[in-house]
Amino acid sequence: MSNNASALFLVYERLFAHYGPQHWWPAQTPFEVMVGAVLTQNTAWSRVERAIAALRQHGSLSAEALLALEPQTLGELIRPAGYYTIKTRRLQALCQWYLAQGGFAALQGWETPRLRTELLAIHGVGPETADDILLYAFERPVFVIDAYTRRIGSRLGLLEAKAPYETLRQQFEQALGLDTVLFKEYHALIVAHAKAFCRVRPRCQGCMLVQYCAVLCHCGERPLGEAGAAID
Ligand code: SF4
Repeated sequence: MSNNASALFLVYERLFAHYGPQHWWPAQTPFEVMVGAVLTQNTAWSRVERAIAALRQHGSLSAEALLALEPQTLGELIRPAGYYTIKTRRLQALCQWYLAQGGFAALQGWETPRLRTELLAIHGVGPETADDILLYAFERPVFVIDAYTRRIGSRLGLLEAKAPYETLRQQFEQALGLDTVLFKEYHALIVAHAKAFCRVRPRCQGCMLVQYCAVLCHCGERPLGEAGAAID
């Protein structure tokens, strides 16, 4: 096992020991995951939950129902998630594609590379959104790279924060092996840690990774003197 793989597994084990299973993605259906993946672009999940609740209450949490809505009506329903005009167009583009391909049952039979390529061709679907959908809706072993992954990984010295998305995705997938269950949990744990401790301004005191970060961290924002120094 490479040093990078050992470090990635070690970080995973520490995060899992602290936070436990995250049961992510919180959705009742794969299609709801897809909707959430678009709505969460540039938005906190708490706001997405409000938009999804509004869609559910309106009886519009299906591709057919979302497409049947007037854009203005859909925009009002998803307004809590922000950027609602843009996201209305994106959601309806996703629904159009989804239905044209035959829905979840048909798409489930596609190979992952084909599915990923087609998702990336949909208006408003970038690599992070596509990989959220692949991992959590279609249960494919694709590692999601987001801003939290870049932040924590770079602070731990595990990756280059500004490396291209595909470089980082392949780095994780090659080091960890293609494991859907692990990838789902790992990504969710990264999100949990980025919110609890490793924020933009990190709260290193009490962090379960501090002894590794003390050696490896280059963030320069931590209240540490020298590398390896203990936090009071
Ligand atoms: S020690 Fe600080 S910078 Fe390092 S992972 Fe923990 S919170 Fe982030």
